Amino acid sequence: MQVLGIESSCDETGVALVRTRAVGTPELRAHALHSQIAMHQAYGGVVPELASRDHIRRVLPLTRQVLDEAGATLADVDVVAFTRGPGLAGALLVGAGVACALAAALGKPVLGVHHLEGHLLSPFLSADPPEFPFVALLVSGGHTQLMRVDAVGQYTLLGESIDDAAGEAFDKSAKLMGLGYPGGPALSRLAITGRADAFALPRPLLHSGDLDFSFAGLKTAVLTQHRKLGDAPTPAQLADLAASTQAAIVEVLVKKSIAALKATGLRRLVVSGGVGANAELRRQLDAAALKRGWRVHYPELALCTDNGAMIALAAAMRLQAGAGQASMDHAFDVRPRWPLDQIDSPAAPRVS
Ligand code: ATP
Ligand code: MG
Ligand code: FE
Repeated sequence: MQVLGIESSCDETGVALVRTRAVGTPELRAHALHSQIAMHQAYGGVVPELASRDHIRRVLPLTRQVLDEAGATLADVDVVAFTRGPGLAGALLVGAGVACALAAALGKPVLGVHHLEGHLLSPFLSADPPEFPFVALLVSGGHTQLMRVDAVGQYTLLGESIDDAAGEAFDKSAKLMGLGYPGGPALSRLAITGRADAFALPRPLLHSGDLDFSFAGLKTAVLTQHRKLGDAPTPAQLADLAASTQAAIVEVLVKKSIAALKATGLRRLVVSGGVGANAELRRQLDAAALKRGWRVHYPELALCTDNGAMIALAAAMRLQAGAGQASMDHAFDVRPRWPLDQIDSPAAPRVS
């Protein structure tokens, strides 16, 4: 079975073709991505209407590119998958519209996928895929969640951010330091030469005893420290502030992930979402896991942020797990707001 996946929830148009195998996780045959970051940069954030229009321009050329790279044609596509939500309504509608039109023209089924399920399952495309069950740390631009994952579609929320997401904390701190948008990667590059203990920044909810996060207060603290540096901070001061900011975010993510593994008794952590590309987060999680004999799995670096591969993969894994016949039911029923733990399980509960 070959699944064509289309991602258009925010500011990246992604298309991919995956093929299921008799044994193991599906294989990524080709994927292509167009990031709108450069277009939105002038505005300091994503402009929804511009995002929708650009998805319209990119999605079919990217589809052609993916099929060419895989040496396939539309006739080889068995199922068309798209991101049904959460995300920007107009942007989602582009992917949904194109996917449903393609599927109707081909006489093939269409399947709407949860964007966060795509992120969550993306490490299955890595060279070292995880096994169920595991704890998932989902750290993206819009979400910070710890989930218990027992199977495809069986997700139990353990904790989440009560305000800003980890990616947002990176982006907002970077923005007020003048590092542009989205600033996560720039801030982490600058942090390499800085001292992580140069500034005392808060670790919100570190000792709250639950698995929730809060990052809104951190950016205020970063703003206060940045102001104290005056109008012309030196590169070394900025590097110190970047390193201290990153250390505050990473420490909370690492400690809460360890707490989640202890609370569930599970020994496997799966990290996904854009912040999962952060080298310092990976270093600290790997060190914590090594000490305790746990395993940590990450997506390939290129698949941490939004992409079509994770959408095609999630659809293929849902279908393999027994999701009912994909249908046209969801044709234009996008869900801009859609909590992951409200998703259907693809298979009926097993009776043992
Ligand atoms: P969501 O999936 O929650 O809707 P999103 O799709 O915008 O949000 P992603 O594409 O998964 O989020 O990730 C983007 C985020 O990842 C941005 O906030 C970006 O700054 C952050 N990010 C990417 N690379 C790094 C890095 N190396 N260090 C820290 N943050 C990073
Ligand atoms: Mg993005
Ligand atoms: Fe995302």
